[in-house]
Amino acid sequence: MNLNEVMKFVESEYIIINNTPCELCGGNFLTESVGLRFDSGKPENITLCICEDCGHEREFSFRAPFIHPMSGEQQEELN
Ligand SMILES: [Zn+2]
Repeated sequence: MNLNEVMKFVESEYIIINNTPCELCGGNFLTESVGLRFDSGKPENITLCICEDCGHEREFSFRAPFIHPMSGEQQEELN
């Protein structure tokens, strides 16, 4: 992954967040913090968001493909 692809990955996260309404009030989520978490060995990018209308917190987690540079094992996980 080159820098351009990393930027696209980060950008796509924001697109997903921006297109996800609050499940309580339908408001927009604002990004509160961004961090990494290792879930059973797999790095995940955790983005904590807070609804701008009601303050409801929601965690978005994304696989962080750029943590493991090409290691030979191709893993395609769609969910
Ligand atoms: Zn809300």
